[in-house]
Amino acid sequence: MIKKTVTELCAALASGETTSEALTRAYLDRIAEHNGALNAYITVCEDSAMAQAREADAQRAAGSTAPLLGIPIAHKDLFCTQGVLTTSGSKILHNFVSPYDATVVERMQAAGAVMLGKTNMDEFAMGSSNESSYYGAARNPWDLKKVPGGSSGGSAAAVAADLCAMATGTDTGGSIRQPAAFCGVTGLKPSYGRVSRWGMIAYASSLDQAGPLCKSAEDAALLLNVMAGVDNKDSTSIDLPAEDFSAKLNDSLDGLRVGLPKQYFTSELNPSIAAIIKTAVGELEALGATVVEIDLPNSELALSAYYVIAPAEASTNLSRFDGVRYGYRCEGPKDLEDLYKRSRSEGFGEEVKRRIMIGTYALSAGFYDAYYRKAQKIRRLVKDDYARAFEQVDVIIGPTTPSPAFGLASIKDSVTMYLEDIYTIALNLAGLPGMSVPAGYVDGLPIGMQIVASDFAEAKLLNVAHQFQRVTDWHTHKPALTANKEA
Ligand code: GLN
Repeated sequence: MIKKTVTELCAALASGETTSEALTRAYLDRIAEHNGALNAYITVCEDSAMAQAREADAQRAAGSTAPLLGIPIAHKDLFCTQGVLTTSGSKILHNFVSPYDATVVERMQAAGAVMLGKTNMDEFAMGSSNESSYYGAARNPWDLKKVPGGSSGGSAAAVAADLCAMATGTDTGGSIRQPAAFCGVTGLKPSYGRVSRWGMIAYASSLDQAGPLCKSAEDAALLLNVMAGVDNKDSTSIDLPAEDFSAKLNDSLDGLRVGLPKQYFTSELNPSIAAIIKTAVGELEALGATVVEIDLPNSELALSAYYVIAPAEASTNLSRFDGVRYGYRCEGPKDLEDLYKRSRSEGFGEEVKRRIMIGTYALSAGFYDAYYRKAQKIRRLVKDDYARAFEQVDVIIGPTTPSPAFGLASIKDSVTMYLEDIYTIALNLAGLPGMSVPAGYVDGLPIGMQIVASDFAEAKLLNVAHQFQRVTDWHTHKPALTANKEA
C-alpha cells in the first residue's frame, strides 16, 4: 500500500480498503527500517502523526471529504511547523521550534494530510547534493554511495524509497527538479507567485518557490490544487482565479508545439542523457506533438547571474540569525560584537558563509553596479529569451541535469557543484514553472526530463507530463532498497 500514489491512496481510503491509522503506521515502520541508511528525515513526528491519522479517520467517519484526508506526507525542514523542530539544515537553527505554521503547511493540514516529519536538506537550501546539511547528507535510494541531489534531497529520497506518500520541497535554482531527477520521482516547481512563501525560511526571496515531490504528474496536480493560491501574508503571491489543475490532465497533445533549445543539446551533454531525452520527445511526437528547435541565446549567462543575485538576497535574508533572537548562541560572549561574530561563525556552515560573503560583496557600494545591477539586467535578457520562445512553442523540453546522480564527496569545489544547475536555474530567474519527470536510466541511475511552460501555465505542464506518464512507466519504477541496504 505504501508504494501507491497519493491519488491511489485517496481512493483506497475513501473505499475503506485501508485507514489513515494503518497507512501512517506502515510509513513509520518503513522510516524506522530505512531512515538509518537514507538519512532522509531530520525529525520524525511519530506520536503526532498517529494522532493526526486517528483524527483523519474520525473525520472521514463523520463525512469529511477533504482532498488529502489521512494522506501521510513530509515537509522539507525549511517550512515552519508549529511546535516542531525547524532547522533549515543548519546548526544555527538546531534548537528552533517554530511558533507558527507556514502557509503551505497550514493548507496541507487543512486538506487533511498527516505530517510524518521533516526532511533533510542542504543548509538554508544552498547546494545540489545535500552534503551541506549540518545533519549529514541524505543518501540516494538507488545507490547509497550517491547523492540524492539538493537541496530538497531528503524529500526526494523519502518519496523514492516510499518513506512518505509525497513531500514538499522548495526550488530557488533547481532544488525540487534536480533531486527529483536524481531519485527518479516527479517534481514540480510552480511559477513564482503561485504558492505562498510565508513561513518558508528564506534563501533568495525573488527566486524561492515551493512545490511537490511525488510519484506522478497526476499527484502533482492534486497537490498543487491544495498548495496554490493567493495569501495576504505573502505580497508576492498572485491573485489568480482558482484553477483545477487536475481538470486538463487528459487533454490531447495533438498539435502541441515542443521546443528543444539548441543550447542544451551540445557536446557537453552526456550522450546517453541526450538519447534518453530524444526518445522521450519521440513519445510526445507519437501523441501528436510537433518539435522545433528554439534559441535561448542568453542561456549561458544565467548561472553567473544567479550566483550574484541569490547570494545577494541570501546575505540580507540571513542577517536575522544573530545569536540574539533565536537559534544557536555562542558560549560566554565577551560583548555584543563577539556574540554576533562567534554565533554566526560557529552556527553557519562553509557554503553558507561563502554565499554571505559573495552577496555582501556584490551589494557593497563600490561593486553594486558592476555585479548586482548587471546580474539583474542579465535576468531580464534571460526572461525575454523565454518570452520569445513561448511565442513559437507551448512547452520547452530538455534534460533536468547534465549527469546522473554523482558520488558522495566526489565534487570538491563549489563551481563544479554550481554547474549542476545549468539546465534548471534560468527558470527561477524568469519565474517560469518547470517539472522533472523520470525518463530512463544511465548506469542504473534515474534520469529526469525537464518540461517548462510559460508563466502560470502549470495546467499545460501537468497535461504534457501526465500524457507522457500514460504511455511510459519510468515513474513507477522503485529502487531495490533491500539490495543496497548494507552498502
Ligand atoms: N543548487 C542551487 C544553489 O545552491 C539551487 C538551490 C535551490 O534551488 N535551493 O543555490
